[in-house]
Amino acid sequence: MRIFEIVYWAGIFIEMVIRAPLRKTWKESAKTDQRVSQTEKILLGLLSIVMVIIPLIYSATNWLEFANYNLPAWMGWFGVFLLICALLIFMRAHMDLKSNWSPTLEIFEKHTLVTNGIYGYIRHPMYASQWLWVIAQILLLQNWFAGPIDLLFFIPFYILRVQAEEKMMIDVFGDQYREYMKKVGGVIPKWSIFR
Ligand code: SAH
Repeated sequence: MRIFEIVYWAGIFIEMVIRAPLRKTWKESAKTDQRVSQTEKILLGLLSIVMVIIPLIYSATNWLEFANYNLPAWMGWFGVFLLICALLIFMRAHMDLKSNWSPTLEIFEKHTLVTNGIYGYIRHPMYASQWLWVIAQILLLQNWFAGPIDLLFFIPFYILRVQAEEKMMIDVFGDQYREYMKKVGGVIPKWSIFR
């Protein structure tokens, strides 16, 4: 099981490396609109606790051992596969969104609407990547506290965030974003069977 924990921590490290350059540009960019609700702030805080802090306690101590569960090995390996897919999508999304990225809901002075690259297939690749991540986490960290709780918090965050984000994008980009929504799916491409 340790191997799956190692993969999880490697994933966290890779996400930090991918994000680091954009975090730097984000801090320096001038913002023209910021829409961060109190609920979102709380949920974001809780998400970092369930994605990093609790897994850290799980990996570094035996305090949570009583809540472990054991899955068949193939499920752990499936978790590895999902995590790799999540990281690939995460990386591609950062390469395409570039300096328009923000950890919250913000519009920058030089904001442009990105509809190319992976954004030509789905509007929310970073959230799609996070969906894969939270499922992978259940399979990789086989503990009721370190594994499934991330999914539990991600669901309300996702619903609130996407609603507020799309409203903001429509307020700022108007018909350009409405057209984009018509053509391109949210987290699943529109040409799929789920259309
Ligand atoms: N929902 C996207 C982006 C998440 S980052 C994804 O899942 O990949 C959130 C920031 O991205 C928001 O502050 C918003 O201003 C910006 N954003 C979202 N979609 C965008 C797009 N298509 N073009 C430019 N900026 C976008």
